[in-house]
Amino acid sequence: MRYEMRAEYGPSGPSDGVKTWHIAHGGTEVALCGRELDASALTQDPELWSRAPDLNCHTCGALFLRETPYMPAEHE
Ligand SMILES: [Zn+2]
Repeated sequence: MRYEMRAEYGPSGPSDGVKTWHIAHGGTEVALCGRELDASALTQDPELWSRAPDLNCHTCGALFLRETPYMPAEHE
């Protein structure tokens, strides 16, 4: 299973910047936590999950860890 980080924006959209990073299965627009995200939202490699922890969705993080025992960031 492939994963990607998908951005949730503030109320004004992308101009507000990224409000929260969620994790979604590759090619889908529904995050692991159940939130529907914009199809055009920015995505990035889940290896970057540990880069800005303050912006991470905690529910997605917990589910992601459960689904992927080998977090890339922990095995460099
Ligand atoms: Zn989430």
